[in-house]
Amino acid sequence: MTALNLARMVAAAADTIAAHADELTALDQAIGDGDHGLNMKRGFEAVRAEADLFAAKPLPDALKAIGTKLVMTVGGASGPLFGTLFMALGKEISAGPDRANLTAAFGKAIEAVAARGKSQVGQKTMLDVLQPVHDALADGKTATEIVDVADAAAEATVAMKALRGRASFLGERSIGHMDAGARSTALLVRTVAEAIGEVA
Ligand code: ADP
Ligand code: MG
Repeated sequence: MTALNLARMVAAAADTIAAHADELTALDQAIGDGDHGLNMKRGFEAVRAEADLFAAKPLPDALKAIGTKLVMTVGGASGPLFGTLFMALGKEISAGPDRANLTAAFGKAIEAVAARGKSQVGQKTMLDVLQPVHDALADGKTATEIVDVADAAAEATVAMKALRGRASFLGERSIGHMDAGARSTALLVRTVAEAIGEVA
């Protein structure tokens, strides 16, 4: 990935999060405390502000630095988890990753998020999008297909009962609403896939 690509990808991610901040807030208002849109916007604007600095680094270091910045700026439960995702990805990825390396690194990063959150798939969290996206990558799906997998996976959290995070306090009443972190994860997957340039 070129420096220009990474800077462009960061800007696209920040644009997407900003454009959907109200939606993410509304989702988090329904079954959480309503700060997810603001949390993500604050974090991704902070990353955008230093995009050129990050883009000048080799990809592994850039991802680690982005993860550190997200931990410091997103806040809430999701900040350390998204931060862990990027930091672990940076630790495992090569400077010029092929699909196999990206898939393996992404798998390790998901494991790191699960360890940090003491969570697993099926608990109505960001993991319910991350894992299907990993599996689609491993299955050789196209970028367009992976975006569809991410959207469907976020949609599938509507029917789930939350077992982690604030939404779990609601028990059965968490059913019927999309998980905010699952939605923001699907938005980021779309942005990355589009920036990589294979999405029709
Ligand atoms: P907070 O819950 O502290 O207000 P946010 O609203 O920013 O933080 O983020 C909430 C999102 O974080 C949830 O929608 C969920 O996807 C994710 N999340 C919360 N706790 C966990 C966890 N233990 N493991 C994985 N994801 C989690
Ligand atoms: Mg919240």
